[in-house]
Amino acid sequence: MSGPWERRWHPLLDEWVIISSSSASRPWSGAKAEVSKTDSPQFDPDCYLCPGVTRASGHVNPNYQGPFAFDNDFPTFASHAPEPEGGIDAAPDDATLASNPFGITAASRGKCRVLCWSHRHDLTLADLPAEEMPAVADLWLAEFSAMKANPDVKQAILFENKGVEIGVSNLHPHGQAYGLPFVSTQGKRMRNAQARYAKHHNSALLVDMLQHPSVANDLIVEKTQHWTVLVPFAARFAYETWIVPNQAAKDLEDLSTEVLHELAAVYQRQTQRYDVLFQRQSPNITHFHNAPSDGDADNAHWCFHMAFQPPLREPDKLKYIAGFESAAGNITNPVQPEIAAERLRACVI
Ligand SMILES: [Zn+2]
Repeated sequence: MSGPWERRWHPLLDEWVIISSSSASRPWSGAKAEVSKTDSPQFDPDCYLCPGVTRASGHVNPNYQGPFAFDNDFPTFASHAPEPEGGIDAAPDDATLASNPFGITAASRGKCRVLCWSHRHDLTLADLPAEEMPAVADLWLAEFSAMKANPDVKQAILFENKGVEIGVSNLHPHGQAYGLPFVSTQGKRMRNAQARYAKHHNSALLVDMLQHPSVANDLIVEKTQHWTVLVPFAARFAYETWIVPNQAAKDLEDLSTEVLHELAAVYQRQTQRYDVLFQRQSPNITHFHNAPSDGDADNAHWCFHMAFQPPLREPDKLKYIAGFESAAGNITNPVQPEIAAERLRACVI
């Protein structure tokens, strides 16, 4: 049986995604796979994220237990970033771009933080004891709030790069927080799409999406009291999933402690599903999509969500961004989202 061959509209990014699954092969077994473990030590004296270690900057990590965060020693954005000669503060306006769009610069002011999930060098979030997840979620919130309050920051992006497959240089499980001095390209597109929808419906695009038959019938992986895990209808990566609140919330600060900690548990279960699906410690890119903090009125229509974008299409096959995708900016997904959801639901965790 052939899988679908069609374009699907991505409602947050306002773009086509090409679903091109040549064959809808049978669902994978739901049996619990033996997850491969790395042989990392609990503590690595050569790891600059481990407790008590001296980093390249000369700073010494405290002998911390649990989560710990520090300023990135090699930041992309920092408050001390130099001011380029003739640099501007805001994005260039239409008049500037029409007359002279060349040679425009601005300072890379902002903030970059490194977020260690635990003192343990060897435990991913999938492996961390469940009772330690609330402290991890408290760190997400604290770091986001500090970024949001920083006047240099217009959008705070929290993310985790996991696995050597996507170029992670340090295997100590950790995430990062980037405080951008501008609203990102994807942030602007998501904001525009959500504001347009809210002005027509007076409700949140992502929350309404949960009720739409295209999602509700076949794409839900897990639903809890406050959260829904789903494969997006126009998934851009083979096993992409989102975690969406059942009631609209703009950012992590909008969540009660109970709801935040439930998110941490849901998040951990989803990382465990990926490990079962791919029968290994699975590489992944994870984003937290909080509303920008640049003061734009349309931020009010933003709904928080998290996205997992695993680079694998099969346990031993990476999905590459190749010629068509890099030329077009549009993505081809080789796995039908409904099949991906079925396989993820079948993972026994
Ligand atoms: Zn370490």
